[in-house]
Amino acid sequence: MSTENLPGWKDLPAGGLILEPGNAENLETGEWRSSRPIHDKQKCINCLFCWVFCPDSSIIVEDGKVVGIDYKHCKGCGICARECPPKVKAITMVPEGE
Ligand code: SF4
Ligand code: SF4
Repeated sequence: MSTENLPGWKDLPAGGLILEPGNAENLETGEWRSSRPIHDKQKCINCLFCWVFCPDSSIIVEDGKVVGIDYKHCKGCGICARECPPKVKAITMVPEGE
């Protein structure tokens, strides 16, 4: 990623305050991720535990069903895989680059 046009520390608000609530939508924070969740639609029972627990709202749900993962914002914390029911295990964490 080019850092040429990114703001420097002198451009940040004092104290690192967030002046625009909800601005995460505009940032691709998924670049921090070292591992990614892989969702298996065949195994998924759509209990939506992963959607409830994901701290980044990165589980994409349509019509009450998990349809994918927002990799632009998912940080790879693995909470979704941890909270998916043990008998189902529809989410697997894999290292980035695999
Ligand atoms: S790994 Fe973390 S951030 Fe990514 S979808 Fe799962 S719970 Fe959300
Ligand atoms: S927690 Fe697991 S079974 Fe439940 S919706 Fe998410 S992926 Fe599907």
